Amino acid sequence: MPVFTHPEFDSHELIAFRHDRDSGLKAIIAVHNTRLGPGLGGCRMWPYADEGEALTDVLRLSRGMTYKAALAGLPQGGGKSVILGDPRREKTEAMMRAMGRFVQTLSGKYIVAEDSGTNVDDIKLMAQETSHVGGLAGEAAVKAGRTGDPSPATAYGVFVGIKSAVSFKLKREDLSGLRVAIQGVGNVGYRLAKHLHDAGAKLWVTDIYAPAVERCVKDFGAIAVPMDAIHAVDVDVFAPCALGAILNDRTIPDLKAPIVAGAANNQLARPAHDRILLDRKVLYAPDYVINGGGIIEIYHETVGYDHAKAHAHLDRIGDTLTSIFERSEKEKHPTGAIADRMAEEIFRK
Ligand code: NAD
Repeated sequence: MPVFTHPEFDSHELIAFRHDRDSGLKAIIAVHNTRLGPGLGGCRMWPYADEGEALTDVLRLSRGMTYKAALAGLPQGGGKSVILGDPRREKTEAMMRAMGRFVQTLSGKYIVAEDSGTNVDDIKLMAQETSHVGGLAGEAAVKAGRTGDPSPATAYGVFVGIKSAVSFKLKREDLSGLRVAIQGVGNVGYRLAKHLHDAGAKLWVTDIYAPAVERCVKDFGAIAVPMDAIHAVDVDVFAPCALGAILNDRTIPDLKAPIVAGAANNQLARPAHDRILLDRKVLYAPDYVINGGGIIEIYHETVGYDHAKAHAHLDRIGDTLTSIFERSEKEKHPTGAIADRMAEEIFRK
C-alpha cells in the first residue's frame, strides 16, 4: 500500500496508524495542513473493504477539511480520522477510549469530532482520554441552547447561501414565492425547509423515508415529489441535502433550476461536472462552502460560545459565496474550481 506516492497523498503533513490490541482498535489519523491551525475533522467508523480503501478515504477527507476550514474563515487546518470496523457491531467503549488516546498522542495537531459512524457519546468517551475534541457543546454553548449537533448551523448556513445565490443569479433579495426543491429532508433538509418556508418560499420535497416527507407536507405545505424526479422539478433552486454524486451525467441534462445550492457533501460525481454546470448556465454553490455552518459552529463551541459572534460568522458564508460567484463570472471559470483556488490562496499564503 503506497503512502507517499498514494494518488490522494497531496503532501499530507502527517499520517498516523494505530492498532490497540486490547480494544481491537485499528485507526488512521491524517492531518493534511496545519498552516492556519490544528487539523479539525470528524472520526468516521466504517466497515472498509480493506486498509487501502480506509487510507484513500481518510486522505481525501482530510484534504477536503483544509479547503473547508480555509473558506469558512477558521484558524484551523484539515484533518480526519477513520476507524476500520462496523459501528453497529464492533464499536465498544474501550475502542472509543483507545481512539481518544490515539488522538492525544498527536498533542493537539488533530482535533477529533463526529462523523458517520460516530456520535456525541463516542466523542465524550474519547474526551475522557484527550482534550483535543470538538463537537461537544461547552458550558457557554449549552447555556446558549446549543447541543453539539451541527445540523441547525449547517441548515442556517445553507439558507444564507441560497439567499446569496438568488441575489446573484436572479437579482432578487426577497424569497417570497421562490420555488425550491429539496432532496432529503433529514436533520439539515427539514431545518432548511423551515427557514425557506418562514421566508415565504414554496417547497417541493422528497426523501426515501416517507414520514420525513409527510412532515414537510404537513408543516410547510410542501409538495411531495417522487425520488427520481426531484432534480428535474421546474423550480428556482435545487437543494441536494441527501447524498453525494447527485450532479452527474444523467441528472444534469434534466436540471431546470438555474441554481444548485444544498448541504450534501460531494455533490459533483466528477470534477468535470463543475464545468458542465457552468456551460449550462447553472449557478452551483460549491458544497463544502455552503455546508460550512457545522464546522463554524463546532469552532465557536470549542473556543467559548458567543451567539452573536457565531451567527455573524455563519452569515459570512453568504459573502464568501458571493465572492466565488463574482470571480467565476469574471474569470469564466467554474465555481468549484474558483473555491479551491481561493482556499489555496488562504492556506498556502
Ligand atoms: P440525515 O441523514 O439526517 O438526512 C438525510 C436525509 O436524506 C434522510 O432523511 C434520508 O432518508 C434522505 N435520503 C437518503 N438517500 C436519499 C435519496 N436517495 N433520495 C432522497 N432522500 C434520501 O443527514 P443530514 O445530517 O441532514 O445531512 C444531509 C447531507 O448534508 C449529507 O450529505 C451530509 O453529509 C451533509 N452535511 C451535513 C452536515 C450536518 O451538520 N449535519 C454538515 C455538512 C454536510
